[in-house]
Amino acid sequence: MKYFVILTLGLMSFFNLSAENAPSTDSAIQRTLAYAKGHQEFKNLFFKENEETFIRLVEKGQSPKTLFIGCSDSRVIPELISSFGPGELFVIRTAGNFVPYEDPSILWDGVAATIQYAVEVLGVSDVIVCGHSHCGAIEGLFKEIKMKTLANWLRFGHEAKLTTLEALGSQAEDATKYGVAERVSVLYQLDHLMTYPYVKEKVNQNKLNLHGWHFTIETGTIEYYDPENSKFLPLKSVLEKAKT
Ligand SMILES: [Zn+2]
Repeated sequence: MKYFVILTLGLMSFFNLSAENAPSTDSAIQRTLAYAKGHQEFKNLFFKENEETFIRLVEKGQSPKTLFIGCSDSRVIPELISSFGPGELFVIRTAGNFVPYEDPSILWDGVAATIQYAVEVLGVSDVIVCGHSHCGAIEGLFKEIKMKTLANWLRFGHEAKLTTLEALGSQAEDATKYGVAERVSVLYQLDHLMTYPYVKEKVNQNKLNLHGWHFTIETGTIEYYDPENSKFLPLKSVLEKAKT
């Protein structure tokens, strides 16, 4: 127990956390214990079963085929909903799974840098943008947000909000508006991806496929955007189609 306190205090000074804004020592210890227990469970179960995979991924390096761009929402876990394991998904998670359009004047754009690394260095063949139900960022599009950084970020969902309101009218039920905006936004984020020259080039050369998904938290169901029908369909239907 003493060590957790020492570690916590050590980290506080390292990150220059003052006693005022640091969490109370008791709750910090409780949280650290929870993290340690969780990590131990990972080591004893998942890591033990997959140790060879981890070693192979170090020896051979990673070569994921898929860049997954999802929301930071804690209920949407890319590896869990896709049953993909270590080394299979390269992941970006942002509030609202928004993708900024290309702006070369912003030199510190972490999302853009990560997209470029995935596409140009790793050479992924697929990019999935996955929206989800009950998305706080999507709901935020329809509310007044006073926090400046957050409000600025929500600009990447603005087209989705306008298209939704145009289609449904402003009197539509909130839940209906959010459900439509969540899906429409995915399509706009795919458009934003196409503003990156290296993405556009690879898509045009058929070397990169873009996918739009929507995950419903309460049913665990994924829908995918079917460009042929211009609508979202259950991903499960792809399996049924493959059987016929
Ligand atoms: Zn979200």
